[in-house]
Amino acid sequence: MGCIFCKIIEGAIPSEKVLENEHVIVIKDINPVAPVHVLVIPKIKGRHIKYVLDLEEGDEQLVMEIHKAIKEVAVLTGIDKDGFRVINNCGKYGGQSVDHLHYHVIGGKNLGAGLI
Ligand code: 5GP
Ligand code: ZN
Repeated sequence: MGCIFCKIIEGAIPSEKVLENEHVIVIKDINPVAPVHVLVIPKIKGRHIKYVLDLEEGDEQLVMEIHKAIKEVAVLTGIDKDGFRVINNCGKYGGQSVDHLHYHVIGGKNLGAGLI
């Protein structure tokens, strides 16, 4: 069974792309929890990074590119003005359902102060 996000990156599974560059793809989540809910998914060449625990020395540019994409998509969708939340679900207790590193960017309404 292949990785859904790798298939989305390859274009084998369709998605609603919000932005894309050589480092990341940003798509609308298929099951949004807020008016804006996108996934920032790094395109990783040569290895499969499941989650943050797989990041290593040398991945600094990738981490920066993820954060640049978060900023870019926040401005693009207008959620930069009022604020938003970035979520990374990590592993079983973190509720991760797709084993390919990704960050949820959620906004467009007041999300309140709670974390869980
Ligand atoms: P996780 O639970 O791993 O943190 O997040 C995975 C997210 O991917 C979920 O919010 C889920 O709705 C989303 N998702 C799963 N399959 C697809 C898909 O085929 N297309 C899109 N756009 N999102 C998906
Ligand atoms: Zn993958």
